Amino acid sequence: MSECVFCQIVAGTVPSQKVLDTERVLVFHDIRPQAPVHVLVIPKQHIASAHALQAEHATVLMDMHLAAQQAAEQLGIAQDGYRLVTNVGWHGQQTVPHLHYHLLGGRQLQWPPG
Ligand code: AMP
Ligand code: ZN
Repeated sequence: MSECVFCQIVAGTVPSQKVLDTERVLVFHDIRPQAPVHVLVIPKQHIASAHALQAEHATVLMDMHLAAQQAAEQLGIAQDGYRLVTNVGWHGQQTVPHLHYHLLGGRQLQWPPG
Protein backbone atom coordinates (compact mmCIF):
# COMPACT_ATOMS: atom_id res chain seq x y z
CA MET A 1 0.00 0.00 0.00
CA SER A 2 1.41 3.36 -1.08
CA GLU A 3 1.94 6.02 1.56
CA CYS A 4 1.26 8.72 -0.99
CA VAL A 5 -2.15 10.29 -0.30
CA PHE A 6 -2.79 11.05 -3.98
CA CYS A 7 -1.96 7.45 -4.94
CA GLN A 8 -4.47 6.43 -2.24
CA ILE A 9 -7.06 8.74 -3.83
CA VAL A 10 -6.36 7.10 -7.20
CA ALA A 11 -6.74 3.66 -5.57
CA GLY A 12 -9.99 4.77 -3.91
CA THR A 13 -8.81 4.08 -0.35
CA VAL A 14 -8.93 7.82 0.47
CA PRO A 15 -12.16 9.53 -0.57
CA SER A 16 -12.24 12.51 -2.92
CA GLN A 17 -14.81 14.69 -4.63
CA LYS A 18 -14.10 13.82 -8.24
CA VAL A 19 -14.67 16.22 -11.10
CA LEU A 20 -13.12 14.15 -13.90
CA ASP A 21 -11.77 10.62 -14.11
CA THR A 22 -9.96 9.71 -17.33
CA GLU A 23 -7.65 6.87 -18.33
CA ARG A 24 -4.51 8.56 -17.00
CA VAL A 25 -5.73 11.57 -15.02
CA LEU A 26 -7.93 12.41 -12.04
CA VAL A 27 -9.37 15.83 -11.17
CA PHE A 28 -10.85 16.36 -7.70
CA HIS A 29 -11.67 19.19 -5.31
CA ASP A 30 -8.94 20.44 -2.98
CA ILE A 31 -9.87 19.90 0.68
CA ARG A 32 -8.66 23.41 1.56
CA PRO A 33 -9.95 25.55 -1.32
CA GLN A 34 -8.15 28.88 -1.85
CA ALA A 35 -10.65 30.21 -4.41
CA PRO A 36 -14.32 29.59 -5.31
CA VAL A 37 -13.04 26.93 -7.71
CA HIS A 38 -9.97 24.99 -6.58
CA VAL A 39 -9.39 21.53 -7.95
CA LEU A 40 -6.30 19.38 -8.34
CA VAL A 41 -5.26 17.73 -11.60
CA ILE A 42 -3.10 14.66 -11.00
CA PRO A 43 -1.64 11.84 -13.06
CA LYS A 44 -2.80 8.40 -11.90
CA GLN A 45 0.82 7.34 -12.24
CA HIS A 46 3.03 8.43 -9.33
CA ILE A 47 5.41 11.17 -10.48
CA ALA A 48 7.02 13.08 -7.61
CA SER A 49 6.85 16.58 -9.05
CA ALA A 50 7.25 18.62 -12.25
CA HIS A 51 10.97 18.35 -11.65
CA ALA A 52 10.77 14.53 -11.97
CA LEU A 53 9.11 14.69 -15.40
CA GLN A 54 10.90 12.92 -18.24
CA ALA A 55 10.32 12.75 -21.99
CA GLU A 56 8.43 9.47 -21.57
CA HIS A 57 5.79 11.36 -19.53
CA ALA A 58 4.77 13.53 -22.50
CA THR A 59 1.44 11.76 -23.03
CA VAL A 60 0.33 11.94 -19.42
CA LEU A 61 1.42 15.58 -19.19
CA MET A 62 -0.67 16.46 -22.25
CA ASP A 63 -3.58 14.51 -20.78
CA MET A 64 -3.28 16.59 -17.60
CA HIS A 65 -3.59 19.79 -19.64
CA LEU A 66 -6.56 18.45 -21.61
CA ALA A 67 -8.24 17.40 -18.35
CA ALA A 68 -7.56 20.85 -16.87
CA GLN A 69 -9.19 22.49 -19.90
CA GLN A 70 -12.20 20.20 -19.64
CA ALA A 71 -12.54 20.76 -15.87
CA ALA A 72 -12.30 24.54 -16.37
CA GLU A 73 -15.14 24.36 -18.90
CA GLN A 74 -17.19 22.06 -16.67
CA LEU A 75 -16.72 24.28 -13.61
CA GLY A 76 -17.61 27.46 -15.51
CA ILE A 77 -14.28 29.33 -15.20
CA ALA A 78 -12.92 28.94 -18.73
CA GLN A 79 -14.33 32.17 -20.09
CA ASP A 80 -13.11 34.52 -17.34
CA GLY A 81 -9.81 32.70 -16.96
CA TYR A 82 -8.03 30.79 -14.26
CA ARG A 83 -4.62 29.83 -12.91
CA LEU A 84 -2.91 26.50 -13.42
CA VAL A 85 0.08 26.13 -11.09
CA THR A 86 2.35 23.44 -9.78
CA ASN A 87 4.53 23.84 -6.71
CA VAL A 88 7.92 22.12 -6.62
CA GLY A 89 9.88 21.21 -3.53
CA TRP A 90 10.61 23.10 -0.33
CA HIS A 91 10.78 26.68 -1.61
CA GLY A 92 7.86 26.05 -3.93
CA GLN A 93 5.82 24.93 -0.88
CA GLN A 94 4.95 21.55 -2.34
CA THR A 95 3.31 19.58 0.48
CA VAL A 96 2.21 16.46 -1.43
CA PRO A 97 5.05 14.79 -3.35
CA HIS A 98 2.85 13.58 -6.22
CA LEU A 99 2.71 15.83 -9.29
CA HIS A 100 -0.41 18.02 -9.36
CA TYR A 101 -1.67 21.20 -10.92
CA HIS A 102 -3.83 23.50 -8.86
CA LEU A 103 -6.66 24.80 -11.07
CA LEU A 104 -7.91 27.97 -9.41
CA GLY A 105 -10.60 30.38 -10.51
CA GLY A 106 -13.93 31.98 -9.84
CA ARG A 107 -12.45 35.27 -8.58
CA GLN A 108 -9.82 37.81 -9.60
CA LEU A 109 -6.51 36.23 -8.61
CA GLN A 110 -3.51 38.27 -7.48
CA TRP A 111 -0.03 38.37 -8.97
CA PRO A 112 2.79 38.05 -8.01
CA PRO A 113 2.28 35.20 -5.52
CA GLY A 114 3.87 35.55 -2.07
P1 AMP B 1 0.84 21.52 -2.63
O1 AMP B 1 0.94 22.20 -1.29
O2 AMP B 1 1.10 22.41 -3.79
O3 AMP B 1 1.66 20.25 -2.65
O4 AMP B 1 -0.68 21.09 -2.80
C1 AMP B 1 -1.24 20.01 -2.12
C2 AMP B 1 -2.72 20.29 -2.03
O5 AMP B 1 -3.37 19.08 -1.73
C3 AMP B 1 -3.12 21.28 -0.93
O6 AMP B 1 -3.80 22.38 -1.51
C4 AMP B 1 -4.02 20.45 0.00
O7 AMP B 1 -5.09 21.18 0.52
C5 AMP B 1 -4.47 19.34 -0.93
N1 AMP B 1 -4.79 18.07 -0.29
C6 AMP B 1 -4.05 17.38 0.60
N2 AMP B 1 -4.68 16.22 0.94
C7 AMP B 1 -5.84 16.19 0.22
C8 AMP B 1 -6.91 15.28 0.12
N3 AMP B 1 -6.96 14.13 0.84
N4 AMP B 1 -7.95 15.57 -0.72
C9 AMP B 1 -7.94 16.71 -1.42
N5 AMP B 1 -6.95 17.62 -1.38
C10 AMP B 1 -5.91 17.38 -0.57
ZN1 ZN C 1 1.54 9.19 -5.48
